[in-house]
Amino acid sequence: MHNFQVKNVFVGLLPAGGDLLTELERFAAKEGISAADVQIIGFADGATFGYYDDQKHEYIQKRMEGKLEIISAVGNVSIKEGKHFAHLHIVLGDEKGELRGGHLLAETKILVAETRITVLEGDELVRQYDPQTGLWLWR
Ligand code: ZN
Repeated sequence: MHNFQVKNVFVGLLPAGGDLLTELERFAAKEGISAADVQIIGFADGATFGYYDDQKHEYIQKRMEGKLEIISAVGNVSIKEGKHFAHLHIVLGDEKGELRGGHLLAETKILVAETRITVLEGDELVRQYDPQTGLWLWR
């Protein structure tokens, strides 16, 4: 386990029309955030997420179309291969209130993204490739 203190908290909207993961990583890079907790609620126009196949070591992509509630997106920011990397899991609701979700992938268009980023300072939070799982895990 790593040890951190809360440095500061950003609260606001990520840019509408952008991609959720891309905009979060862009903000993290701009602000030099190398460790953070992230929480987002809002509204999206189409979303792409994945389910990890731990035998094939790849994400099976899932797609929802249309206007979707972002019921909850939670995750973190850390460093992967020297870059600011966001890892989010998302739950989405359609007009019937039915939920789907998984590991957030690119191509999730923001309509509204109310975002809280709790920036941490302390240890380095760096990912490295783990050949056993095929995932980039915190070292
Ligand atoms: Zn994940």
